[in-house]
Amino acid sequence: MSTVPALAAFVGGSFRATSGDELTSINPSDPSDVVLRFGSGEPGMIDSAVDSAASALPGWRAKTGPARAELLYKWAAQMAARSEELAQAVCREVGKPIAEARAEAGRCEMILRYFAGAAVHACGELIPPQVAGSLQFSLRQPVGVVGLITPWNFPLAIPIWKAAPALAFGNTVILKPAEASTRVAALLAETAAAASIPDGVFNVVPGSGGVVGRALAEHHGVAAVSFTGSVGVGRRIALAAAERNARFQTEMGGKNVAIVLEDADLALAADLVANGAMRYAGQKCTATSRAVVQRACLEPFLERLEARIEALRLGPVTDPSCAVGPVISREAQERIRATVADAGQPTISIPIPDDLAKGFFVSPTVFRDVDPRSQLAREEVFGPVLAIIVVDDFDEAIAVANEVEYGLSASLFTSDVASALRYIDRIEAGMVRVNGDTTGVDPHAPFGGMKASSSGSREQGPAAMEFYTEIKTVQINPGKV
Ligand code: NAD
Repeated sequence: MSTVPALAAFVGGSFRATSGDELTSINPSDPSDVVLRFGSGEPGMIDSAVDSAASALPGWRAKTGPARAELLYKWAAQMAARSEELAQAVCREVGKPIAEARAEAGRCEMILRYFAGAAVHACGELIPPQVAGSLQFSLRQPVGVVGLITPWNFPLAIPIWKAAPALAFGNTVILKPAEASTRVAALLAETAAAASIPDGVFNVVPGSGGVVGRALAEHHGVAAVSFTGSVGVGRRIALAAAERNARFQTEMGGKNVAIVLEDADLALAADLVANGAMRYAGQKCTATSRAVVQRACLEPFLERLEARIEALRLGPVTDPSCAVGPVISREAQERIRATVADAGQPTISIPIPDDLAKGFFVSPTVFRDVDPRSQLAREEVFGPVLAIIVVDDFDEAIAVANEVEYGLSASLFTSDVASALRYIDRIEAGMVRVNGDTTGVDPHAPFGGMKASSSGSREQGPAAMEFYTEIKTVQINPGKV
């Protein structure tokens, strides 16, 4: 059992109470279940966390790569030992179906192990010098104290995929988790402490985004800010960081597309579009929210899609067969229902059973023949809602797919290699699949989007080193003729 529910901040190696107005984190499946009460925070908490992270920095960056790797392996082991407890906490606090919550906990172990390995890989290049007899090379060094601002939808994995590379390459970290996932963040801090990550190296300061998040993004002691969340907040954070010439990375919204061509395996396409659109109630940043379908296969595709969506279990989230679950809050439920009501008559709408009605459930909903210029086809819904847009051919499909401001992930269903190759070349998305769903990416592969979806360098995999290190170009000359 956790020892810290009320002491949600973790600074300098000890748990602290948060100050400010009371905020609550509640169970989206049962709003009467208050998971945590905590304070909205004040900027002074960020000052104290920055002091603590800055004090810990010299010792942490001076450790050898193998020594840092050892501690990250220990952290992975701590997470493995408590993975069921972590998964249950995710399930309760953010309403994620337990099977996916378990997968998320397992993914964190993989990420920690990957970056433990990365801490002992080469981190520079030998560069042929112009000066005869000299040695020239690039050296990658930590950036310093980094601020991580994260959303609630992957409350374990997103903090870990930012913190693991940051720590592996010698930085110290202040994590500001989403208000709605504050207890999970405190559990994460417990696992870091149990892994003997030194005091001040990994800090967690929860609270209101507009108070604590803003103070972190604007703090002069923070050398880099990595953000995942909504577009509006991401842009504000980018401006705050640019203002003081700190580096930033923002991973934001998506309007992810699945293109279904007439030569596709329609059973596979229907299965993966249903999963991509509806699992976790469409609240993955990579969720499929548009299906662009060739007219010639529309009816057989829809028939299969309806059957697949009907087969997805809505709840309860603690049941391992649950696929959908509630949305995060009453506010999100009302916003998504209003979007659905404005969009007209749905083609598919799955009713919510009475025994789930107290949770923030939204009916999985599909609209067909959606106008590609409509709000439903262009704006992120972040709920279990799919817009189907009908096209005549491949070129029109690509044009429609690229017609939105976002470019996070995309998939194409086809059996034609030539179409797949043309799509890979022309689609405007950072993560591109053929005959796969738009969600998920291997934890060791680069993650990020194009256009309004992302800015700065990619996260995860080898790409993460770019953000969390700074290059020094070094030349050593012989000193004698
Ligand atoms: P959000 O933008 O509301 O909040 C994200 C974080 O920013 C939270 O920790 C919040 O407290 C903080 N924040 C809010 N206002 C702030 C401010 N003024 N200054 C600094 N920090 C502030 O997003 P959310 O509702 O938690 O998550 C949903 C959004 O996240 C969706 O738009 C989704 O697409 C996006 N998302 C994107 C990815 C990706 O990798 N592209 C992944 C997951 C979620």
